[in-house]
Amino acid sequence: MRTFALAGNPNSGKTTLFNGLTGSTAHVGNWPGVTVDKKEGTYKAGEEKVNIVDLPGIYSLSPYTPEEVIARNFILDEKPDGIINIVDATNLERNLYLTTQILEMDVPVIIALNMMDEVEKRGDKINVKDLEKKIGVPVVSICALKNKGIKELMERAISMPKQRKGHTVVTGTLGSAIQKAEKFYEEKEVSSPTFHAMKLLENDELEAEPKDAAALLAEITADYGEDLEAVIADERYKYISANFSVAKVKKEDSAVLTKSDKIDKVLTHRIWSIPIFLVILFVIFHLTFSEDLLYLSYAGLPALDDLDLSDGLATFVGLFYDGAVFSPGVILTNILTLICDYITEGVSALIGVCGGAAWVDSLVCDAILGGIFAVLGFLPQILFLFLGFSILEDTGYMARVAFILDRIFRRFGLSGRAFMPMIMGFGCSLPAMINTRTLADEKERTATIRVIPFFSCGAKLPILTAMSGAIFEVFGVGNVDLITYSMYLIGIIVAICAVILMRNTTMKGATPPFIMELPAYHAPGFKNLMIHLWDKCKHFVKKAFTIIFASTVIIWFLQSFSWKWEFLLEETEEFGMVNLRTDESILGSIGMLIQPIFTPLGFGSQLGTEFGWVFAVAAITGLVAKENVIATFGALAAVVAKQYIDWEADETAAAVAMVEGMGDNINIPAILAFIVFNMTTIPCFAACATAKAELPKGKFKWTVLFWVVTSYTASCMVYTIGSWWWTLFIWLVVWAAIIAGIVLNNKGKLEGIKFWKKNKDDVQA
Ligand code: GDP
Ligand code: MG
Repeated sequence: MRTFALAGNPNSGKTTLFNGLTGSTAHVGNWPGVTVDKKEGTYKAGEEKVNIVDLPGIYSLSPYTPEEVIARNFILDEKPDGIINIVDATNLERNLYLTTQILEMDVPVIIALNMMDEVEKRGDKINVKDLEKKIGVPVVSICALKNKGIKELMERAISMPKQRKGHTVVTGTLGSAIQKAEKFYEEKEVSSPTFHAMKLLENDELEAEPKDAAALLAEITADYGEDLEAVIADERYKYISANFSVAKVKKEDSAVLTKSDKIDKVLTHRIWSIPIFLVILFVIFHLTFSEDLLYLSYAGLPALDDLDLSDGLATFVGLFYDGAVFSPGVILTNILTLICDYITEGVSALIGVCGGAAWVDSLVCDAILGGIFAVLGFLPQILFLFLGFSILEDTGYMARVAFILDRIFRRFGLSGRAFMPMIMGFGCSLPAMINTRTLADEKERTATIRVIPFFSCGAKLPILTAMSGAIFEVFGVGNVDLITYSMYLIGIIVAICAVILMRNTTMKGATPPFIMELPAYHAPGFKNLMIHLWDKCKHFVKKAFTIIFASTVIIWFLQSFSWKWEFLLEETEEFGMVNLRTDESILGSIGMLIQPIFTPLGFGSQLGTEFGWVFAVAAITGLVAKENVIATFGALAAVVAKQYIDWEADETAAAVAMVEGMGDNINIPAILAFIVFNMTTIPCFAACATAKAELPKGKFKWTVLFWVVTSYTASCMVYTIGSWWWTLFIWLVVWAAIIAGIVLNNKGKLEGIKFWKKNKDDVQA
């Protein structure tokens, strides 16, 4: 089977083309660095099958970043049958810089001129025939987003001659030096001699082999006495602008160009950009979680309770409105919860008809369905939130966010590159941790992997919404959307503080410069959005019916039996099967044993032994999968807490039941501490495994310790300061002492000061 590799600048549409060619659903992102590893797929051209490889996005073939090394080694070592060089036609001059280097390799090349729809929209024209004649390899104009021109591209790619001799566009004074180096490599019988010759002259560190190459380079440099690397780069640009400058290729029209620039003037403004970002983020949260999007009562419409409706109609209206109109996220959740309720009722009735024992009903309906539905009920809100994030990403706004944040966080030892994986962490820690491979500095990478779990992932969302729902319903305080939003921000703040601490103590190092092309804004593609959402949905549902299913069954068994194998559930008239002696159950006694660990955090022994240990158990089951925290509440609420509270299922019911059952023993700071603990502690099994694989050797155990300490400290602070405001001063003193210690230590060590200064110089450079 023939293999073609897709190569091009970041954001040129490689992954979109790859997905179009192979029918795959790889993540398309409107920022550089999303594809770190290479991906493979198959394209079917009639009978023939062609292997397609999506290489990471690169600006050049001189390896300054890990992506460039991956792409270059693939082309040189695996020798694909051809390269599809994808070029962003709206940015022709910059993109062709890479093309000039690819052309130097002995490999057939075809150029896919992408984003032609954008070019047309701007009223520009690119003469493809002319371009092809000048470059000397086939050029096909395509629109990857709309799957246009793809068939022609592949037809021409397949019919390319199997061999091509590399040539360089660099001529002039350097001509003879290049010929000399080419001859040198030809005699060594290396493939792609022109490419190696150019790289040698560019002083590429990967060209150290063969040994006499260094001598040759020294000889040539002595002849020219100039910085060859700069001369060659200059020659490349000269060639491009002489042949393909904007004026020569397309008719001039800057009106649309400045539209993006105009938007950027506001959105990346030095001062306003951050508040704008926070507001945009809040709007998304408001649309997802708010129960009072619009107050219709102001318009004279009555609350739902005051309306005289039949039961069925009231249930239906209640999905959308209760005096205020719900946000779309809440409406979808209500609908799903209603369906889940009907299913549970139906299953329960079926078990009754079939003569199933009461314990079967308890296991199936209360534990398993209770646990799974408690989590599944959040799916609409999760999808809605990610729809918001995907739109921000696809329009090109997220790339700006990385740019804005780079300006600020560079001082703290992180580059904008590190923020891309972090923002990905809002989705799931796994791909985010893998994406840190784009960070060249190992210490920056370690620090980033460690804080990625603090960017609350989709699985932690149920904890946030359910617990803030409980605060709202039990204490009548705050808005669900506002609490959820601030919890996200707390996660980010903890991450930033942790990074600053690490970069000044154990993870010191220089922050590499961050170069990024801001993509032009464009309307989000419907297909891309749907691919993102489908990915999320699939993952979440799969997890609900595997890990969470298994966990709820285990939890039910552990809490239904005592250590003496006595079955503890009893039939009651009012509540069905419940456990009236929870403290004797296996789960209860384990919970009580570990309960004191959480006492300083507000959800330990002060909650009492009756079923206060459920919080401790939930925190532990969360280590398997974060959805388990609320699933545990869901599975236990019906059997343990039903007798204490008015049990009425809705998506936050389990959490409300638990909190309500605690009576005066629990306060708001303790609930917030519970959220913060779960957000910042050791992430799920899968994320731990990924972290272990991605971290440098020996760093994983310290990372686990870091997570434990951070979560414990952060939630202890939330609880103590929230409960007794004056403890704030104690914490301030403690932190002042720690910071003073670090500063003094850094001053004491000479290298420490040097490192710090070097960082600052980097910033200015
Ligand atoms: P990669 O970084 O090279 O893999 O680029 P992606 O495939 O992730 O695409 C980057 C952005 O460009 C995404 O937002 C795509 O939706 C967008 N894009 C890709 N192809 C086209 C196209 O033909 N026209 C337009 N207007 N946008 C495109
Ligand atoms: Mg990509």
